[in-house]
Amino acid sequence: MALKLEEMTGLYLNQGAAQYGKEAVTQLQHALQCAHLAEVSGASHELVAAALLHDLGHLIASTAAGQATGVDDLHQFVAIPFLRGVFPAAVLDPIAMHVDAKRYLCFADPAYHATLSPASQRSLVLQGGPFDQAGADAFMAKPFASDAVALRRWDDLAKDPAAITPGWEHYQAVLGRVSGTLMPA
Ligand code: FE
Repeated sequence: MALKLEEMTGLYLNQGAAQYGKEAVTQLQHALQCAHLAEVSGASHELVAAALLHDLGHLIASTAAGQATGVDDLHQFVAIPFLRGVFPAAVLDPIAMHVDAKRYLCFADPAYHATLSPASQRSLVLQGGPFDQAGADAFMAKPFASDAVALRRWDDLAKDPAAITPGWEHYQAVLGRVSGTLMPA
């Protein structure tokens, strides 16, 4: 079930022209901007890869169900079976946790909710709303929780139609490097 790197590239280059939810950027622009923000922040290669691929579930599902019909599409989990065995937990976990990171930030940072786009505020309701104290504590106790929160901040910023980023090839090389870390030496 694991996707090859070429298949991930194919999904982004062939289907990445789709609009990113109700935002003013495409899925490919959003992915590249998110990875670029991670990279210029000095994130690890694993976290840059997670930033690039965090919405791969939208491309795999690409049914336009979910938000359009008022049902949570659970996209943060859709991609995981396709990435397991290709990438380490340092890539998979922040992807799986990037929606809970939004729920965490809405609890932990009183100013955060107002910074979300209207589309992201709507999807928050479908995703369960802000965590309470117990939910926030359980979230932060998990490995890679702080990476997921960092990814979430970049995710929220990666919606600028005028942003200039490196192309897919640049990040494809990062994916190759990170997937190589699973290979025996
Ligand atoms: Fe996103």
